[in-house]
Amino acid sequence: MKKPKPLTWTRTSPPAGTDGDCIICTSHRPSGNGYPHVERTVDRANRGRRVYRLSRIICERVHGLPTGMLALHHCGNRMCINPGHIYPGTHKKNVAAAKRHGTFKGGPSRPGASNPSAKLTAEQVEYIRSSRESARQLALQLGVTKCTIERIKYNHAWKP
Ligand SMILES: [Zn+2]
Repeated sequence: MKKPKPLTWTRTSPPAGTDGDCIICTSHRPSGNGYPHVERTVDRANRGRRVYRLSRIICERVHGLPTGMLALHHCGNRMCINPGHIYPGTHKKNVAAAKRHGTFKGGPSRPGASNPSAKLTAEQVEYIRSSRESARQLALQLGVTKCTIERIKYNHAWKP
């Protein structure tokens, strides 16, 4: 088995309103969505690997991360792994924080399970794929149909 890569980082001055320096991860490269990630074997027999955000793992260990919650950044800095800057929050909070940090990419959400053209942001798609919630739960949370959730979960080519 491959040894996990040790974590290295550099410190940068924090954005306004954040206590302490941002700790920028330098050892792990960001995945497509800009967050540093690690791969973990979850199903040895089938060589199943899963990608986890570092922020998620840190949040889980330091603050605890209840199901359905996301690991969010106070500083809005996706590469930041300072446990003091990471906190558990809901998806709704995440959107509010992203708007505050100017990193929000999605338009206004269109709730209503009957809307077949409901659009999801890249963040939401990523959330759906990494979540262990049921499709029904996710559909309720995000205001789309269960079918949309299933399509995203099982069709990896799906683009928002
Ligand atoms: Zn930070």
